[in-house]
Amino acid sequence: MIRVSNLTRRYGDFVALDSVDLAVKEGEFVTLLGPSGSGKSTLLNLISGMTQVSEGQIEIDGRDATHVPTNARGLGMVFQNYALMPHMTVFDNIAFPLQVRKVAKSEIETRVREVLSLIQLEHVADRKPKQLSGGQQQRISLARCIVYRPPIILMDEPLGALDKKLREDMQLEIKRLHAELGVTIIYVTHDQEEALAMSDRIVLMRNGRIEQQGNPEDLYFKP
Ligand code: ADP
Ligand code: ADP
Repeated sequence: MIRVSNLTRRYGDFVALDSVDLAVKEGEFVTLLGPSGSGKSTLLNLISGMTQVSEGQIEIDGRDATHVPTNARGLGMVFQNYALMPHMTVFDNIAFPLQVRKVAKSEIETRVREVLSLIQLEHVADRKPKQLSGGQQQRISLARCIVYRPPIILMDEPLGALDKKLREDMQLEIKRLHAELGVTIIYVTHDQEEALAMSDRIVLMRNGRIEQQGNPEDLYFKP
């Protein structure tokens, strides 16, 4: 469902991503793992369209998406810093992507309640983001992403701002949502434990290239 071929991104003479080929199947949970600066975010941002391709091709659902604008690629995105709107309630934050898409008010009400129930946060619907814990805010940002039912979700270090216990809870939460919704997820982390716990497949990156890939059982990590 997602295929990148010979994908390259340069910044001046510096090659941030170097002729990468990768195919992600429908419903798969693929994690890009690697040290800081290895090109994980660059690859994710090229797939999302937030960064422009220097060379190569991106195909989404069998169509060439290389030059398609971000908002027309049918993707959901979740970031480390939540990016919730502080002056809006939790309900309105989650409703926002539906309002932008001109969904009817009654339908918005139903779907926002539905995802709030899915993430077990019905009781905070009328609060503002800053009245919530970091973990709750990250749940809300997940809810805002899944409310418009994107078939593909891109996540860039979504749990990076959380402490260890919360991170483990949220790993389970994201795995549960992945199974329940049947979505395709591309997940970026530099945390090996996290990648091992969550992924169907791990893509190990180094210096802008894919060094190795496989399922968590089969990967060999150099000590
Ligand atoms: P990662 O996500 O694995 O930490 P990135 O994809 O963010 O790595 O970055 C890969 C390399 O590309 C790094 O060396 C980074 O400094 C460089 N890079 C990323 N964005 C830019 C940019 N806008 N301008 C110049 N260099 C960049
Ligand atoms: P990440 O947490 O994914 O590693 P960074 O903190 O490295 O991201 O980068 C954050 C932003 O800064 C990104 O938009 C990236 O493109 C940009 N950036 C990263 N490295 C450079 C660089 N060397 N020069 C200019 N911009 C950069």
